[in-house]
Amino acid sequence: MATNKPAPTILIVDDQPTNLKVLLRLFEEHHYKILIAENGERALHAALQQPDLILLDVMMPGMNGFETCRRLKADRATADIPIIFMTALDNLVDKIEGFKAGAVDYITKPFQQSEVLARVQIHITLRRQQQELKETQEILLLQKALLEQMSITDDLTQLLNRRCLNTILKREFHRSKRHNVELSCLMFDLDHFKKINDVHGHDFGDVVLRQFAGILKNSIRDTDFVFRFGGEEFLLLLPQTDISGAAQTAEKIRERTASTPFKTQHISTRVTVSIGVASVLEHHPPHSHNLTTFADVALYEAKRRGRNQVVLYEPSLSPETD
Ligand code: GH3
Ligand code: MG
Ligand code: MG
Repeated sequence: MATNKPAPTILIVDDQPTNLKVLLRLFEEHHYKILIAENGERALHAALQQPDLILLDVMMPGMNGFETCRRLKADRATADIPIIFMTALDNLVDKIEGFKAGAVDYITKPFQQSEVLARVQIHITLRRQQQELKETQEILLLQKALLEQMSITDDLTQLLNRRCLNTILKREFHRSKRHNVELSCLMFDLDHFKKINDVHGHDFGDVVLRQFAGILKNSIRDTDFVFRFGGEEFLLLLPQTDISGAAQTAEKIRERTASTPFKTQHISTRVTVSIGVASVLEHHPPHSHNLTTFADVALYEAKRRGRNQVVLYEPSLSPETD
């Protein structure tokens, strides 16, 4: 056969030794691999070897061909293997019964060898094309999932990126309002980060960003969301967490950051972080984006007061409310 695929395997199920002999010779001449079963029970067992096609006799003692076919189709392991019926009777009722049981085709006895070969070949080709299509679909689905994952992930830190912040923020904001449960937002900005880059180089700056992302991840619950908001700015959304819980988390992260040496093999330095905190039910931001603005105003105040500290939002901090 003109293919670079391995030789196809055919399972022949027939109780008549003469039929078996004819078919065996025919297919072996054309380089197929052959499995043989003399009855329905053995066919069910042999089909587990995943032949590419099954040639199934209708009239057999014990379990007949139709019943064998139905059972093969009912088992997930064998359901996709194409089945061609072999029937001595050129009988319409038999053919219909065969198709109903799940067969893809039939051949009639006595065999026309070229017809048997042609039908077997076409169904094996069809099956292989279906399998290839299925594999391509699976690869495409995997690629799609990967792309979706990549589109919401920050490359450097593997945190969520800013692109997906709005969607998650809006959803959590409305959930908070609707169910009257708190939602807190923490905004982080590393202190004097420009100096770290200037003194130790940009690559070390990247190490610091990754290490800080690790501190954030290790300081939150599974239900919280952590984003890289910008260069050295990060944002946490804490659902069902009120302002005092958020303040505690913020203080824990501030403390961990200040007490952790940020290092590579050759460089070690200290880094601090300023944090602003705002909450939905506490501060009543009119829109979801005002929650992050409030946290940013508080963060600005933390910088103004000398950095390395946590500031909770108050309306008096907002320039427009003065
Ligand atoms: P402040 O305490 O007021 O926040 O001072 P700062 O130096 O941290 O603030 P500034 O916003 O002036 O500096 C932020 C620096 O972060 C400048 C920029 O070069 C650096 N930066 C932004 N993104 C990256 C990044 O992906 N990697 C590295 N290494 N540096 C970055
Ligand atoms: Mg900054
Ligand atoms: Mg900074």
